[in-house]
Amino acid sequence: MLCMECRRIRELLPLLAGGELEGSLFKDAREHVATCERCREELMEFGHQSLLLKSFPAPDGSSSVWDAVRERIDQRGMGSLPPAGP
Ligand SMILES: [Zn+2]
Repeated sequence: MLCMECRRIRELLPLLAGGELEGSLFKDAREHVATCERCREELMEFGHQSLLLKSFPAPDGSSSVWDAVRERIDQRGMGSLPPAGP
């Protein structure tokens, strides 16, 4: 079952993955996938590699939002994430 926020964010995921999201929508979507495992997996389907390249200032791919994601997950005790990249 998807909550309303998930439904809203899912519509944004293709744009987020394509780096076409801006401003508050970008922030909303990014923060949602940081806390919602199912939407995060959905985002992976669109290719999180391109997302990292286009949307986040993390040229080495080792920092930025994905570290923050893990941090949040750890704090919430929700388990672990799959590897963020190569
Ligand atoms: Zn969600």
